[in-house]
Amino acid sequence: MTKIFNKFKNNLFFIIVILGYIAMFIIKPQMGFDAVKNSGYYIKEMFLIMPVIFVLTALLDTWVPKQTIIKYLGRESKVKGTILSFVLGGISAGPIYAAFPFCVMLHKKGASIKNIVIILSSWAVIKAPMLLNEVKFLGVKFMAVRWVLTVIAILVFSWITSKIVKDEDLPQETEEQPKGISVNHDACMGCSLCVKNYPELFEMKNKKAFVKEYDFEIDGDKLKKVIDSCPVKAITDL
Ligand code: SF4
Repeated sequence: MTKIFNKFKNNLFFIIVILGYIAMFIIKPQMGFDAVKNSGYYIKEMFLIMPVIFVLTALLDTWVPKQTIIKYLGRESKVKGTILSFVLGGISAGPIYAAFPFCVMLHKKGASIKNIVIILSSWAVIKAPMLLNEVKFLGVKFMAVRWVLTVIAILVFSWITSKIVKDEDLPQETEEQPKGISVNHDACMGCSLCVKNYPELFEMKNKKAFVKEYDFEIDGDKLKKVIDSCPVKAITDL
């Protein structure tokens, strides 16, 4: 029973959509046919675009180190992060739904909620190719005023969102963590602080920290100090 309830809960949105289609077919069949036709068009478009987006996102995930994302788009990136987020969203191509897997990857690697909102919003409403079209149809003055006001609105909304939505509110990866003391090598930036603070336990190899083989009793306070002082929180003790 619990299994059925969980399945229902996990697919609630899908079920609501299906019920919506059924209701349309019953109330106004033509509307139902149009809805299915339009949905088919978008699903076909998604099948063409999404594989490319997933490949590009996976490549960026592999090539761009976590510490780079933290530095340029993380919580401490300040004005630099804000400008970069506007640029990333503004020069992007493709529909807005293509931005979601890209933003999930950025968030997973340390981008802040505020910068994610800026990227998504500028991707949706101030993309460079769209601005050129806007000038063509509505004139420079219209585009410039709308652009400035939109940027201000994005700044305000991204700040508000970051106050309401916390990192842990976003879906988290459920990677199985290794037991014992371990170093997340995606996050480790090779500062060697852990080695300086606890040389008996940590060592550097290829600019990454590793836990040495040990057969002595771990000094809990010393290890806690090392864990707390790691600038990217790459060390865990489970
Ligand atoms: S303190 Fe953290 S970031 Fe620095 S080397 Fe050790 S694990 Fe890596």
